[in-house]
Amino acid sequence: MSIVVLGGGESGTGAAVLAKVKGLDVFLSDAGKIPEKYKDILNQYQIEWEENGHSEGRILLAKEVVKSPGIPSKAPLIQKLKALGTPIISEIEFAGRYNKAKTVCITGSNGKTTTTMLTYNILKEAGLNVGLAGNVGKSFALQVATENFDYYVIELSSFQLDNMYDFKADISVLLNITPDHLDRYEYKFQNYIDAKMRITQNQTEEDTFIYWNDDENIQRELDKIGIKAQKKPFSLKKTNLGSAYVTEDKLCINTPNGPLMMPIEELAIKGTHNIYNSMAAAISAVSVNIEKESIRKSLSNFSGVEHRLEPVCKVRGVQYINDSKATNVNSCWYALESMKTPVVLILGGTDKGNDYSEIEELINEKVHYLIFMGTDNSKLENFFANKKIPYSSCSSLEEAVNKAYEVAVKGDTVLLSPCCASFDLFKNYEDRGRKFKEAVRAL
Ligand code: ADP
Repeated sequence: MSIVVLGGGESGTGAAVLAKVKGLDVFLSDAGKIPEKYKDILNQYQIEWEENGHSEGRILLAKEVVKSPGIPSKAPLIQKLKALGTPIISEIEFAGRYNKAKTVCITGSNGKTTTTMLTYNILKEAGLNVGLAGNVGKSFALQVATENFDYYVIELSSFQLDNMYDFKADISVLLNITPDHLDRYEYKFQNYIDAKMRITQNQTEEDTFIYWNDDENIQRELDKIGIKAQKKPFSLKKTNLGSAYVTEDKLCINTPNGPLMMPIEELAIKGTHNIYNSMAAAISAVSVNIEKESIRKSLSNFSGVEHRLEPVCKVRGVQYINDSKATNVNSCWYALESMKTPVVLILGGTDKGNDYSEIEELINEKVHYLIFMGTDNSKLENFFANKKIPYSSCSSLEEAVNKAYEVAVKGDTVLLSPCCASFDLFKNYEDRGRKFKEAVRAL
């Protein structure tokens, strides 16, 4: 059987290696350049590959195609394959066929990486033989081909879920659903919601579905589709069926050995959104039978993830925080919500159709100065013109950090939480976060 893998990045290379290891005839093709490190792996496994263009004739003969999540389904080649009826699957779907380990699969619009890392850490510190896969770490397929784990914690984006059909998560986690990536979903929010709900597909009574009970989009879907898995919702409010909730400033997680109670202030990662993420990770851990004390220890020791509300340092009594990963308005909302001091907020970049009124109230309450950082700040300038918070417009990171230094007073927090993508001034959000940290440390 001939498999064609489209895309020579982390997931595509992993899928090609797995296909080869399983004795399938495989060819990998990338429209752009393949990074050297992946070429080395492909060569090591003697996998045929091409870059900077597709040999369409050969690809259209494939029995099955594994598509990287970065390739949109409206790409002409994908449309041709669809017209031929060629099955197009994701790397996770492909790897799932050969996987024997138990899977904890995490999705949502915001909080995926944090919850995935936290869950992985709890399982690992409890001594389980566990791998980390999906959008973080090495691809699932490469690990299925070369490792022998008993468990995997897998971060799944909606793009990966799009091409998953028979895959089943033993434990699925759905953190929240807010509009994102609508350009890839014909600008229909429901299409994106449908993709996210695929996390529950094929689950049976023996499986577990963990979700945020207060999300109205999730609730609406639950009423529509029958979920067979055991439902384990989490919420800030106590309900009869809830598996985790907050009561009197304590996190409470139900376990077979009685509730695990933990003061919120003992959680290593701060802010309401991280209470949710901690609850989701803790319920996942309970579902694989990890002891209460072990979960408590990991929740209080977790060191957090770079670029997510990451404390940088204090300069003259002002705390600087790097939240470069906040690339939409919703995640900036949660960042602001977690702030305990007056804030100087740096935001801006490539706007994805943002509605800043969603954060206006929190800005009025907590922010005393706004700094716009981007090549085109006109949308922000128009929105905040004639409002009560003063602002400056900057066109470089150095300018923005110097301005923040100038306007912040002792006891303030300078927060980089941009609401926007970074591509106008930076390579990606990691580049933006790192340069921010360098500039702050140089003050
Ligand atoms: P993702 O992998 O889904 O993009 P991350 O864990 O990388 O999510 O977090 C990205 C940003 O989203 C964080 O900086 C934070 O501001 C915000 N965030 C994290 N968890 C949540 C949550 N549960 N709900 C809403 N926003 C969140």
